[in-house]
Amino acid sequence: MAQLFYVETLGCPKNQVDSDKLIGTLLADGMAPTDDPAAADLVVVNTCAFIDVARKESIDTILALDDQRKAGGRLVVTGCMAERYGDELAEALPEVDQVAGFGVPVNVVAKPEGKRSIAVSAAIPTLDLLNLPRPKSTSPWAYVKIAEGCDRTCGFCAIPSFRGPQRSRDISSILDEVDQLQVNEIVLVAQDLASYGKDRPSELGAGAIVPLVRAVSARVPWTRLLYLYPSDLSDDLIDAICETGVPYFDLSLQHVSKSLLRRMRRWGDGDRFLRRIADIRERESAAAFRSNFIVGYPGETEQDHDQLLAFVEHAQLDWCGFFSFSPEEGTYAADLDGAVPMSLINDRLAELRELQDEITARRRDELIGSTVKVLVDSVAEARSTREAPEIDGIIEVPEDLVVGQFHDVRIVDAMGPDLVAESL
Ligand code: SF4
Repeated sequence: MAQLFYVETLGCPKNQVDSDKLIGTLLADGMAPTDDPAAADLVVVNTCAFIDVARKESIDTILALDDQRKAGGRLVVTGCMAERYGDELAEALPEVDQVAGFGVPVNVVAKPEGKRSIAVSAAIPTLDLLNLPRPKSTSPWAYVKIAEGCDRTCGFCAIPSFRGPQRSRDISSILDEVDQLQVNEIVLVAQDLASYGKDRPSELGAGAIVPLVRAVSARVPWTRLLYLYPSDLSDDLIDAICETGVPYFDLSLQHVSKSLLRRMRRWGDGDRFLRRIADIRERESAAAFRSNFIVGYPGETEQDHDQLLAFVEHAQLDWCGFFSFSPEEGTYAADLDGAVPMSLINDRLAELRELQDEITARRRDELIGSTVKVLVDSVAEARSTREAPEIDGIIEVPEDLVVGQFHDVRIVDAMGPDLVAESL
């Protein structure tokens, strides 16, 4: 009988893609998946190290799976935490059999008693996760990672230090993956999506995201883009996104106060962002917007916070995430003065979230009575172009709508971020 594996994935969509590819290699090795960690010969935890909370969740998951695994089952930790804290992690968690950084194969071969393997960045990656095949998607949509790493130096972010500089994939390899997945929606992801191609000036070059989006969109009904750094949101890219039929703009703004953005070592300011959003709405009135903001970055004043509140009110974005600043070892911001007390960060977060929840609910209410095309993700649960999978709200639909297919429905009710629809 085939050896069984169980993979638990934490963190962002980009990690999900890595897990899919890892699963592809395990299947190619003749192993079979199980959704019961207690039955698995190999238990893999693909961790997230983005912020404190994510690290805690990763550790809790590792410990919980250690409790559940069967005698002789091998526990392997991979992903960002393994890459960033490999040695420390191995030392702190003696129950783990292998700590494997990016691209280091995980395998089921048991080590002799007492010998553990730590294979972090020092080990030469033998798997190119970016270009590995992955199994056919089990849902009607799938993430596709178009680049790895990041060439920017945002003050709060440790990602470039452990994911390295940007490495864009070949267009042909991305398109092959899209074809192979056979889904109705492709969600393109990368650390800095609009910079795709800049690291390969002779073959791809700046702006290569535009032909890529067009090429993907020619192959699947819906193409969605996540994580757009605002300075690279060119007119051509806006046109290409609108032409996909999914006018969804996930703008990575992080703040709107110009002085604070410079302290974050980022581009832009609230006025520019508002102008760009207005441009897009003028081009496509049905455009949906999401953004993320960091609250309590060192030096964030009451005025900065007020600017952010005013922006949120003015911009009327569909979806916003607000995250508290977390000082990350080795980042520029870790040594900045002007730390904002946690109690004040929590007050600011609560104020922003309350305001945005009202805006989101109002924008959802406005959709009542309209007819929309939805993709049914699972029984009775669907999304329109306004909702990114796993991130935004959902649309409750009648149970008889075929999963994996598009349907036209009428929105009849709203419950906060979620909508209820009936068949036409
Ligand atoms: S763009 Fe900034 S926040 Fe995003 S991964 Fe790069 S450095 Fe980090």
